[in-house]
Amino acid sequence: MMYHLRSTAFNTLRHYSKDTKIFSDKILSESHQATSPLNFVLGKRVDAQGSSSFQLIAPATGKVLRNIPNSNEQDISEAVLAARHTFKSWSKWTGFERGKVLKTAAELIRNKVDDLAYTEVLDTGKPIWEARYDILGCADTIEYYGGLAGGIKGDFMQLSGGSFAYTVREPLGVVGGIGAWNFPFQMAAWKSAPALACGNTMVFKPSQVTPLTAVMLGEIYQRAGLPGGCYNVVQGEGETGQILCSHSDIDKVTFTGSVPTGSRIMETCAKGIKHVTLELGGKSPLIIFSDADLDNAVKGAILANFSNQGQVCSNGTRVFVEESIAEDFLAKLIERVDNMKIGDPYHEDTTVGATISSQQAQIVEGYIDNAKKEGATVVYGGERVTPSDPNLAGGIYLRPCILVNCTDDMTVVRKEVFGPVLSLLTFKSEEEVVARANDTEFGLAGGVFTRDLQRAHRVVAAMEAGSIYVNNYNVYPVGVPFGGYKKSGIGRENGEDSLNYYSQIKSVYFEGGDVECPY
Ligand code: NDP
Repeated sequence: MMYHLRSTAFNTLRHYSKDTKIFSDKILSESHQATSPLNFVLGKRVDAQGSSSFQLIAPATGKVLRNIPNSNEQDISEAVLAARHTFKSWSKWTGFERGKVLKTAAELIRNKVDDLAYTEVLDTGKPIWEARYDILGCADTIEYYGGLAGGIKGDFMQLSGGSFAYTVREPLGVVGGIGAWNFPFQMAAWKSAPALACGNTMVFKPSQVTPLTAVMLGEIYQRAGLPGGCYNVVQGEGETGQILCSHSDIDKVTFTGSVPTGSRIMETCAKGIKHVTLELGGKSPLIIFSDADLDNAVKGAILANFSNQGQVCSNGTRVFVEESIAEDFLAKLIERVDNMKIGDPYHEDTTVGATISSQQAQIVEGYIDNAKKEGATVVYGGERVTPSDPNLAGGIYLRPCILVNCTDDMTVVRKEVFGPVLSLLTFKSEEEVVARANDTEFGLAGGVFTRDLQRAHRVVAAMEAGSIYVNNYNVYPVGVPFGGYKKSGIGRENGEDSLNYYSQIKSVYFEGGDVECPY
């Protein structure tokens, strides 16, 4: 998930900053973010004390930037303790006061967008303009929750005999946040903003692959006036996440990542009866009817498959095209994808950056090989591209891949690939395609392109997914809830809805007369 703004703004943003720094070893070695301590506790950067460590590798170059120590039990306990301690005062601030801090943070993010985007590219290898786009979207999200914070309230119920009841919406306490690597700054922002707006405090663990910008968010919050201890960051691998989830002083876990890890986290939380929000994987369908505007449908299919190197949870990777237009659709799709520019993510005109890691690239290539063995045909891409800049030789750059002759039972059509692989499937009738679209364990998103209004509404009603796009794909305006059906998750992020997942209701009964007691 990703673009808060409408896709028409893409080109404007791609040229937002003409003076973006050109990627080089010199800049890498000088990067403050790649040398400073990366845990953030009580408003300060600190080093984790764990005896084991992991490597931070820049996907664009494949170069090792540094080793980062894992946070051990003590590091995590200190962060949770700081969050618990600060919760006592932060939760007593009025919503309006909390909102002011968030709104200031949003403005600071906008002022720092190039620095943040630059560092996000260092971590992820995504094109710089996409990173900038993500970060500006996060500023909007934080401002949005800043605006909502003052309006968080309960209800009042008049009862008989002068009695009444009211409800108070209270925070949950200390929230543990755990993020995936595809939108690192966004994960930290989408989780912390509603949590803090409700009066919770947080300990956030980014993916080991992308540790840098969650800490920068901590510094921004600090400058905006957030009390130290409200937002903390611990770095580490899966075990750090496991320790965080099982900590007895964590009241809720909000997680974004894969289904297997989500399931493990839910098990851990079940032991402590902790609240849990899970944003998990997907294998979403995009249905294109023969009456659709074909050019828009092609653009939609590209947005649904190839932004962020295809590493997007809500991607519509099963592209169902009505048989009668399949040939025309494919020709237009290939023509447009062929214009995508692969290479240096720091160049403003790059549209395909580096794949996050060699392991992930191997997984994607494995799916493509397997698809061929199962009878699919690669009509475009799927191979590695070597950028002309020798600096980028260690990065992995995959050309977006289009598969045809796919069937619903193929592994590539059933499993989440999490890479730039589009499977094209054809259909004959609405009833058939809706049944096939829903035939998946996932339910994160779905799309439909048609000019027929009644059909659009019928298909939307029949689709089993948390977000459905009609005549567009992968746009995320601030304020619209996001989350999955089926195995794609539990709970919602974004929108007012998210506040319900970071708060609890206290019902208060007030007696206006004498106690009636039958005993
Ligand atoms: P993972 O599930 O592998 O990891 C996600 C996070 O969980 C990482 O920070 C990871 O740490 C941590 N983790 C791993 N094991 C444990 C554990 N036992 N207890 C607690 N935390 C743990 O997912 P990826 O990072 O590979 O992300 C890709 C997945 O995320 C895809 O399935 C994608 O669809 C999904 N996703 C869902 C989104 C949504 O909103 N629905 C959005 C974006 C991605 P570490 O990496 O350091 O090992």
